[in-house]
Amino acid sequence: MKAIVDRKKCTVCGVCTDVCPMGAISLKETEIEISDDCSLCGMCVDTCEFGALSLPQVGTGPAADIAAYSGVWVFAEWRSGTIHKVSHELLSAGRVLANKRGVPLAAVLLGHRLDDAISEELISYGADVVYVVDHPELAGFRDDTYANILVELIRRKRPEILLAGATSIGRSFIPRVAASVRTGLTADCTDLDISEDGLLLQTRPAFGGNVMATIVCPNSRPQMATVRPKVMKPVPVPGHKGSVELVTAPEEWLRSRVEVLEVIPEADKTAKLTEADVIVSGGRGLRKPENFKLLEDLAGLLNGAVGASRGAVEEGWIAPSHQVGQTGRTVAPILYMAVGLAGAIQHVVGMQGSRIIVAVNRDPQAPIFDVASFGVVADLFEFVPEFIKRIRTERGESS
Ligand SMILES: Cc1cc2nc3c(=O)[nH]c(=O)nc-3n(C[C@H](O)[C@H](O)[C@H](O)COP(=O)(O)OP(=O)(O)OC[C@H]3O[C@@H](n4cnc5c(N)ncnc54)[C@H](O)[C@@H]3O)c2cc1C
Repeated sequence: MKAIVDRKKCTVCGVCTDVCPMGAISLKETEIEISDDCSLCGMCVDTCEFGALSLPQVGTGPAADIAAYSGVWVFAEWRSGTIHKVSHELLSAGRVLANKRGVPLAAVLLGHRLDDAISEELISYGADVVYVVDHPELAGFRDDTYANILVELIRRKRPEILLAGATSIGRSFIPRVAASVRTGLTADCTDLDISEDGLLLQTRPAFGGNVMATIVCPNSRPQMATVRPKVMKPVPVPGHKGSVELVTAPEEWLRSRVEVLEVIPEADKTAKLTEADVIVSGGRGLRKPENFKLLEDLAGLLNGAVGASRGAVEEGWIAPSHQVGQTGRTVAPILYMAVGLAGAIQHVVGMQGSRIIVAVNRDPQAPIFDVASFGVVADLFEFVPEFIKRIRTERGESS
């Protein structure tokens, strides 16, 4: 898709060729030509004083169609018999949005052998209705099947907002859903709200985490956003009542080009990182991979997990699955210990939701101290062994 030229209005003045950041517009003898490099940024449209350029209409159609979309949906992520916690978080966020819009909140549950307790769990987090598609073909996740079903449900029921977790499952099939229904998608939102005119305000870090961008999707429906786990707070709604609607999936919805050969469970340590109540993270201050053993010992004593800065990951001292931050995992444990890491904004966006942050850094000016609840200005190689020793002594364990 690219910008459209109205040849009757175009004077071939060439101004648009100069402003196009993609170099997608070239001047031919009697007309301009727009190549496939066009990113639909709209700069040419804004600059053309003759009104000869426009952007194609994308999405579900004109305003009349948009008005036909109503309700907030949450994709309830079900894996091997349990609901991912991000779905509780999204239902809580969705409940607030639905109340503001005065519309119902629905959960969409796909899987196999889904007993009533799972739907009740979703209702207890605020869902007014749970759409359940239960089929043996949905026992394991396949992105094309899950996408087909969600697309068909959207076409039938027309929700105005659809939220999903920015998990490996959400990330792999939600963009396909957005593209299929020709709407926009904002990935990795950190905040959601409703504007005065009823649009979903989707806020996420942009430009390397230096600004927070609030994005709207005014011309198509549903307005789709993914949110990372642990960004929103799960808030149960005691006594909330809801209904369950079973949806029968016709064979054509279930067709897949994917063959699942084997399901390998997520590595324990990675899973532990996002679930852990205590995380001890290390950065370049650790100097070498073997020194992460110190943090493993401390995390072990606190029944926690080991995290890392991208600095440490890029050095190859620890696996990328431990990385916390904008391009790593978002975590919000009760205690986050940041050891020998500077606290770059890209790291902080991934851990600032932690309840207590303890920073250990020998540089008193390190930015991590700006977000720390408690700061320890010390050499980590002196502090951490001493801290471990103290914990063991307090517990009456031999060191
Ligand atoms: C687009 C983009 C995305 C990014 N995503 C992420 C991300 O997801 N996560 C992330 O972490 N980073 C991310 N980064 C990288 C980020 O900008 C930083 O470069 C990185 O976090 C730095 O890692 P660090 O703090 O370990 O290293 P450094 O900046 O080198 O800091 C090391 C710290 O250790 C301290 N130190 C050194 N020795 C000791 C000692 N003996 N005792 C105590 N303290 C000591 C130093 O004072 C210093 O503060 C991203 C960058 C970009 C551009």
